[in-house]
Amino acid sequence: MITKELQNMRPLKGDEKLERDSEYMGADDIDPNVEPILTIKNLYRGKITLSRGKEVKNVLTFVEETVPGIVEVRPLIVNSGNRQVLKKLFGQVTANALEGKKIQLWIEHGVRNPAKNELTDGIRIKDKKPAAGKTTTAAAPKCADCGKDITGSGSFTAEQIAAGSMKKYGRQLCVECGQKAKAAMEAQEKTAQENDAPADDLAAQLAAAAE
Ligand SMILES: [Zn+2]
Repeated sequence: MITKELQNMRPLKGDEKLERDSEYMGADDIDPNVEPILTIKNLYRGKITLSRGKEVKNVLTFVEETVPGIVEVRPLIVNSGNRQVLKKLFGQVTANALEGKKIQLWIEHGVRNPAKNELTDGIRIKDKKPAAGKTTTAAAPKCADCGKDITGSGSFTAEQIAAGSMKKYGRQLCVECGQKAKAAMEAQEKTAQENDAPADDLAAQLAAAAE
């Protein structure tokens, strides 16, 4: 069946995908056991849309678009606890004090969600500054396929290669395994295209038969 509301909508097709409800960073954006480091770009304060309506919130945006542990870096809504941590880390919570500063995130499990009165995972800012010059998590990124440390290549750092492969292939890969994954993906797409054609013909025949 289809509801009245859906009758006024167009179904998604092809590469169009189901999107998440919130455009802001959530705990599920962060890979398990990774404590990503991000650079604060700007501070915002104003009304934003949440699932329970519009509320005035503090929001941080970040310089990085992707980092190890977060495929797509979204703006972070700053709750009062995280605001306190920022104040402790940098003395003040002004734009001047925070812009360009690095922070490290971690996930606290079993946090009470007051809106739904249930336990959830919360994004916390670490109350220690990330070590100077260190832009990644404690462990060097490891290749998901061969298990070796991912190393920099050309003008790319190990972190950029890890993040790039995560975006493309859904896992962190070294350069070598990334090339293999690329070849495998292309082969798969080719097969999928070849298989698609007869399926379309079949659908057309069925549609014709139904008319
Ligand atoms: Zn590898």
